[in-house]
Amino acid sequence: MTENDLWKQTVRFHGHECPGLAIGFKAAMLAGELLSGSGDRGDEDIVCLAETDACGIDAFQVILKTTVGSGSMRIKYKGKNAFSVYDRVSGASFRLVWKNDIKALSRADKIRLILESGGRELFDIKETAEPFPDRASVYPSAVCSVCGEVTAENALKYSAGKAYCPDCGGGI
Ligand SMILES: [Zn+2]
Ligand SMILES: [Zn+2]
Repeated sequence: MTENDLWKQTVRFHGHECPGLAIGFKAAMLAGELLSGSGDRGDEDIVCLAETDACGIDAFQVILKTTVGSGSMRIKYKGKNAFSVYDRVSGASFRLVWKNDIKALSRADKIRLILESGGRELFDIKETAEPFPDRASVYPSAVCSVCGEVTAENALKYSAGKAYCPDCGGGI
């Protein structure tokens, strides 16, 4: 698949074209290039820790398959277009930080200029500041004593031997 095909696929997933998606796309493509050659990986072996909660993270979900549902897309909001990527197989990790060098007159120009630039022109490649994220955990669950809804153990609070879910446990 060409880079243009992958971009189209990313736009289809996200729903619209925007500069934020283009930034995430180029970051994910650069990450894929930096990770290439370290062999076969499973679903959760590549983890992205994004410092934004906006459009760009969707590109990572398409290109690197670091999805929210698999636990391999983590968001630690810092309001930056910065993405740390971790490879559990090779142990490699790096943080891509948007340089914000693109000066464009219009939104469409900005998207085009981003897409036409090389990843290394757009991002500083730095060392990660956060340790390797833990693997996604599956917690056993129990029933809330008030609403009866099944809730994961790590979200329940216990008081006098009774379990309370986050919706019902506000008072304890
Ligand atoms: Zn968008
Ligand atoms: Zn409850």
